[in-house]
Amino acid sequence: MRKFEGETLLVATHNAGKLEEIANLLEPFGVRVVGAAEKGLDEPEETETTFVGNARIKAHAAAKATGLPALSDDSGIEIDALDGAPGVFTANWAETEKGRDFIMAMGKAHDRLLESGKPKPWTARFCCTLVLAWPDGHDEVFPGTVEGQIVWPMRGHEGHGYDPIFQPDGYDQTFGEMDRWEKNKISHRADAFGKLVQGCFG
Ligand code: IMP
Repeated sequence: MRKFEGETLLVATHNAGKLEEIANLLEPFGVRVVGAAEKGLDEPEETETTFVGNARIKAHAAAKATGLPALSDDSGIEIDALDGAPGVFTANWAETEKGRDFIMAMGKAHDRLLESGKPKPWTARFCCTLVLAWPDGHDEVFPGTVEGQIVWPMRGHEGHGYDPIFQPDGYDQTFGEMDRWEKNKISHRADAFGKLVQGCFG
């Protein structure tokens, strides 16, 4: 596995929240983090059918454009009774003319589950794939998951996205009911970041 040995890491996201989260995580390793917006990068189209495929598109485009090692992530939720949907279309399910509406997206997931006629528990997982790519085309891939089930009605106002309908295995709260610290210990993102840090920053 290739180690990160530079000083500056490009984080291939335009999301300020994600950038800050990653900067905090890598601070103990003396890494300076720069976002895609600061470098004036476009957001490439995510045309692949897997999390790793889309994460690779973003990381390689950013590494090539800047000459810096670049880190990207792609995430979403897979619902088994829906054959893995929404998967890479997790964000798309929330799109409306007025922006993203996750209450609507969670309703859509529940409607499709009822239509499927499949019995509970409605098992599901959040996935997060991180890709660290170098300008020479090399990359390292770190997939993270957290297993659980879809519950209805929605519970809790913490977190974001589909958190209020996802209850992780071994807990009786949804991600929407857990405090952020608790969720961040067990989440798909924590799983993937743990592997990244151990693999490339250890
Ligand atoms: P992207 O990886 O930024 O393209 O977003 C993937 C989508 O998955 C987002 O729209 C989120 O709503 C959803 N998602 C990813 N991680 C989480 C999470 O921890 N909780 C709830 N929703 C999530």
